[in-house]
Amino acid sequence: MLSFDPDNLSFCTGNYIDGKHIPSNNNQIQVHRPSDGKAYALIPESGIEGVTQAVETAEAKRISSGWSSCSPRQRGAILRRWADLIEEDAVYLGQLEALGSTRPITDVINHEIPFTAEAIRFYAECADKYSGDLLPTRKNSLGMLIPEPYGVVGAITPWNFPLSMASWKCGPALAAGNAVVLKPSELTPFSTLRFAELAVKAGLPTGVLNIVQGSGLRTGSELVKHPLIRKVSFTGSTVTGAQIMSDAGFYGMKPVTLELGGKSPQLVFNDAGNPVDIAQRIARGFIANGGQACVAGTRLIVQRAIAPALLEQLILLCQQCRPGYTWLENSRYSPLIDSRQGNKVQRLIQQSCVEGAEVLAGGKRFEHTEEGWFWQPTLLINVGEDNCAVQEEIFGPVLTVQYFDEIDEGIALAQHDTYGLCAGVHTQSLTTAMRSMQSLNAGTVWVNRYGRSGDFIIPTGGFMGSGIGKDLGRQAFQACQRQKSVLIDF
Ligand code: NAD
Repeated sequence: MLSFDPDNLSFCTGNYIDGKHIPSNNNQIQVHRPSDGKAYALIPESGIEGVTQAVETAEAKRISSGWSSCSPRQRGAILRRWADLIEEDAVYLGQLEALGSTRPITDVINHEIPFTAEAIRFYAECADKYSGDLLPTRKNSLGMLIPEPYGVVGAITPWNFPLSMASWKCGPALAAGNAVVLKPSELTPFSTLRFAELAVKAGLPTGVLNIVQGSGLRTGSELVKHPLIRKVSFTGSTVTGAQIMSDAGFYGMKPVTLELGGKSPQLVFNDAGNPVDIAQRIARGFIANGGQACVAGTRLIVQRAIAPALLEQLILLCQQCRPGYTWLENSRYSPLIDSRQGNKVQRLIQQSCVEGAEVLAGGKRFEHTEEGWFWQPTLLINVGEDNCAVQEEIFGPVLTVQYFDEIDEGIALAQHDTYGLCAGVHTQSLTTAMRSMQSLNAGTVWVNRYGRSGDFIIPTGGFMGSGIGKDLGRQAFQACQRQKSVLIDF
């Protein structure tokens, strides 16, 4: 039985520094449960002192504990133990995640926890698999390129997948020998504390992974600017990413990995296959986690002949979604994170209709859920390219529908002026698939599927306004190391 009582869960709420939970008498930020809007805890708004304590401890401990200098294999062993402990702790860790985030408990236990543990395992394997290079030079010289950790990595994560986002940041950075100070979203701050505690239990030296709580404008910004932060790894919105890139440049020219927003197209050609199957793929792509996924495929670009059958199926799938508290085992459909997000979704749909859109399904909030914002999966037709629902990342379960006749017209509609995160292409024609894949401005193209697999080797990251650099894959590990060129004459 996975259901649990949300009022009966105890957990720590402050910062986690040097292996200790630091209670705060500066608790200023109220945290709400997305499912029913109830305020259930407070977190501190860490300022310069809290951030400095976390960062200085991380820098001191990564050196004194030998974390940065020990054999990579030793690091890998600790990370593997950490992954095992995450899985063993699935029930409690999963409850913390389901309590405070938009992820229903069954989803968390079946997907989020194993996915988080596997990401850590993947980077444990990377720890001793990548070397530097010997460079050809004169006979009496030795040229080398030696990778080394940056030092302390500042990691900042969003609220939509708190645990897996934390694992994507901490896994590669720690495996490469860095220390990490992580600031989780102030909307979903608690599961990450347990995640860090388990790392220490697994043998990670205390102080090498610290968590600071607080808002982005105060705590996140202080973290990016701290002089001992040598690299910044951020996932969140494009607007915040731009601010972070600017701060990282101004305060120490720090390299950044930025995983940002998206407005990804799902391009369906007449020869895609059975509309029933295609509709399921499309629906999962924009409904999962209430549409609150950076990779959500929220723009359906559909060739004319297959459109009626596909839309008929999509309407049915939208109507099957039922809201349910995230702490109940049978719940499958996610709430929006909070009323601010709810109001944003509502406002953009209204504006889209003012601009000419028509609601084909959904278009409003589910009625029976107190303060929780469960939004009905929504289909919008009659949207032109300039319609706000086509242009803006709504971050809710809203799919716009645009039609095309010729392949090139479809590809042109799929391109977005701002974002280039992902794209789905659905066709049985190899030629159409390859032409689309080559033309699309997207960091990831999925053909005849939509969404990530469990292959951690496949990196994720966007083009243009969707970001810089990659999470996952070897690329994320290598981005956590700087390269030192060495020339020795003998
Ligand atoms: P957000 O940008 O508002 O906040 C993300 C994090 O940044 C939070 O921890 C926040 O406190 C912090 N922050 C805010 N302002 C800051 C500042 N000036 N300096 C430092 N830190 C700051 O994003 P969100 O609303 O939490 O998350 C949703 C967004 O994240 C969406 O745009 C979504 O597409 C994006 N996202 C992208 C990916 C990806 O892999 N590309 C994955 C998940 C989410």
